[in-house]
Amino acid sequence: MASRLSNLSVDGERLWQTLMDTARFGGTPKGGVRRLALSDEDRQVRNWLADQAKSAGYTFGVDDLGNMYVQRPGRDQTRDPIAMGSHLDTQPTGGKFDGVLGVLAGLEVLRTLDDAKIETDAPICLVNWTNEEGARFAPGEMGSEVFAGDVTHEFALSRKDADGISVAEALQRIGYGGNERAGERRFAAMIELHIEQGPVLESQNLVIGVVDAAKGQMWYNGSVLGRESHAGTTPMDLRRDAFTAFSEFSLEIERIARSEAPAGVGTIGVATIGPGARNTIPGSVEFSLEFRHSNGERLAAMHDAAAAAAERISAGRGVSVRIERIWQKAPVAFAPQIVEIIDAAAKRLGHQTLRMTSGAGHDAVAVASVVPTAMIFVPCKDGISHNEAENATPRDCTAGANVLLHSVLGLSGVHGHD
Ligand SMILES: [Zn+2]
Repeated sequence: MASRLSNLSVDGERLWQTLMDTARFGGTPKGGVRRLALSDEDRQVRNWLADQAKSAGYTFGVDDLGNMYVQRPGRDQTRDPIAMGSHLDTQPTGGKFDGVLGVLAGLEVLRTLDDAKIETDAPICLVNWTNEEGARFAPGEMGSEVFAGDVTHEFALSRKDADGISVAEALQRIGYGGNERAGERRFAAMIELHIEQGPVLESQNLVIGVVDAAKGQMWYNGSVLGRESHAGTTPMDLRRDAFTAFSEFSLEIERIARSEAPAGVGTIGVATIGPGARNTIPGSVEFSLEFRHSNGERLAAMHDAAAAAAERISAGRGVSVRIERIWQKAPVAFAPQIVEIIDAAAKRLGHQTLRMTSGAGHDAVAVASVVPTAMIFVPCKDGISHNEAENATPRDCTAGANVLLHSVLGLSGVHGHD
């Protein structure tokens, strides 16, 4: 029995088939998926998952945020379940793997346990978290943040899409406003399997990343105010050019982020020059800025360095460079005991593992404040995600699902075995 357990493997072909089959719900001509949270396509994939749960005899529940819980019973029903979870919603031009892999690999784990007639001590619960992407309704990680108590039910349910439809109305419309209250369930642990959405594993030829933390983030709106004047008649030394000042500031942001690499990153993703005329010296630039770092103190230091740069450039160039912080999130450390269990399971399966920090937000990051949680990463092609070309190999998806399987077995316990 012990060796039968340690040799237990998911059915990689069945997992792959499931990934390809469900991609038809919102499938795009370019091979991607458009499955916005609580849309008709989301309803279709949810109904599909509910059907799978019911036909396999699992218990099935939905909470008031539409989070779906598919539970396989354990021998000891008094134990808190071990959860596996991710999301089935996608970006408007998303791929087949972001989020979806974590849910469907979880389903494959349950099926594998059924096929092998393995009874776990603790129940195992697969979760499909609502609106991770935040593409239709902002903010993202909505279902998991409400579950964790970081966002109130009222706030989340009242968010509206571009057509003025609220989350509560959309849940009603697709029939997924459940009667249990999000956050009521208890879990002993949660593991999320996800594609890396970055290039690190692939570049190192590794298959399994063990994610032990998530970067903290600070988001800003920024502006540079100079003076509009005539491009032909204003001498260079009498200009207050908002764009050249902004350029200097942007290079300073790059320098700050490089000095914190690889744990820190900084990005200016939006910049609009005003007035935007060929022969007028720019009077303003409006821009976005974000910093991410795995260490909270270093993240604060990046903030301070950017504020100092803004002051210095303002004084040096006779302009006003301002940054206003509009949102921040502290770094999250995942539960060391869960990280260790994943790492040990991966090594037993023959993988060299890499400890990683997630640079992206995930449901696991939200849930980690109330449930001992960690993540497994597998590579995606060229590190590309939030893109219809997003891809992962059957081999890597299977490997990730097997690490998930053995981590969950280690946490749930199997009767008569450790
Ligand atoms: Zn995701």
